[in-house]
Amino acid sequence: MTSHDYLKDLKRITKDCARASGAELHEVQKRAAQAIGFAHWHALASKAKLGWQPTAEDIAKVEGILRGDENYPDEGFIGQHPYQLDDVLRDTRMRGRGWCIFIGEAPSSKPQLLITDRRFKNNPIQDPDFVAKALPIAQWKARQVRAEIARDWPRNSTKPDADGRAMHPLNHERSDKWYCLHCDGESSGAQMAQNLWHCPYCGATPLDMFSEPFPTSERPETENDPA
Ligand SMILES: [Zn+2]
Repeated sequence: MTSHDYLKDLKRITKDCARASGAELHEVQKRAAQAIGFAHWHALASKAKLGWQPTAEDIAKVEGILRGDENYPDEGFIGQHPYQLDDVLRDTRMRGRGWCIFIGEAPSSKPQLLITDRRFKNNPIQDPDFVAKALPIAQWKARQVRAEIARDWPRNSTKPDADGRAMHPLNHERSDKWYCLHCDGESSGAQMAQNLWHCPYCGATPLDMFSEPFPTSERPETENDPA
């Protein structure tokens, strides 16, 4: 009888999580091991060598811990108010009657609270208690969307190497310094990885990030110009 290889699942889940979050694999492995009662991954691996296998319940537990404990349906209620969650071209939208919360793809993007129907009286988006409950759900969804983006990118795009160089997710160039075409902002590889390749200063998209600064002649004069 061949049994399902849950250990393989466990390894895949921890790798996926490290890739999606930009965390060190050994840190994710430690959290996974501790979720199912081991002091560290090494203890789990040693026991696995002796034939131990995680169970389906162990896998579910680890997935829950690594995903974060919260989990929201795409359609639900906050009190009596229905909401819908979706993503549109990687921006997150949470909508209800007369309101919308919008969060851009970049982790630096601030949530926007929008009134979509002014005729609607007692719009819950104007109630701070409602907003306090709705925002964490919208932010959770935005994190899910970002994790999916990062999962599709090369590992080095979300995790700079030992020299601080990160790989551009679209053209696969590698550098420890990145320049924004829009605002001339200079960012490190770590800043780029952390903000999913959007400019941390102006929010410009990954397409506008370059490993070389623009020639001084093409830039407006500023006091900080080294030239
Ligand atoms: Zn910029």
